Amino acid sequence: MSERRPSPNNELVALYPGSFDPLHNGHVDIIHRASDLFGHVIVAVYDKPDKRLYFTTAERVELVRESVAQWTNVEAASYANLTVDYARDRSAHAIIRGLRATSDFDFEFQLALMNRHLNEDIEALFLMTSLEHAHLSSTLVKELSQHGAPIEDLVPAGVAEALRRKRERTDG
Ligand code: ADP
Repeated sequence: MSERRPSPNNELVALYPGSFDPLHNGHVDIIHRASDLFGHVIVAVYDKPDKRLYFTTAERVELVRESVAQWTNVEAASYANLTVDYARDRSAHAIIRGLRATSDFDFEFQLALMNRHLNEDIEALFLMTSLEHAHLSSTLVKELSQHGAPIEDLVPAGVAEALRRKRERTDG
């Protein structure tokens, strides 16, 4: 892998919103690359996504926080309002999303156009997944974990540990 550029000395703020239930290495890769481009990156954990949650909002935020601690220009937060409203509240210039496959595109396209309709001042920016993370999703990680399959290569250490604890509680 090429050597990383130092964090940029600029005032551009990016919001990276998602469910992060839980955070995995595909997300971490996007966060790391965004932190090379933006002066400040807010990883924004959505409080009430339209899906059944495995981890509470506080747990999801804490797992993000400890996993991004090495990047001083990255922050973890939660929000419960519309993403564009939260982005405006936090003075974000762009909303970052990751793209894995063409199957992500339709939904992300619709979402980006709706967000622009709601607030045309905030740009949507897409970062393509890295090849080694293209197959990764939170849903698959949870499923593997529930069946006791190894997930240490797919998620940060703290997330693997949290998944293990959660599984033991559910099993026991
Ligand atoms: P959502 O926000 O749709 O509930 P997630 O929390 O899983 O979904 O993901 C947040 C963002 O990260 C989304 O833009 C999603 O496309 C992106 N993402 C998810 N998995 C990957 C991956 N393996 N590589 C790159 N980006 C990803």
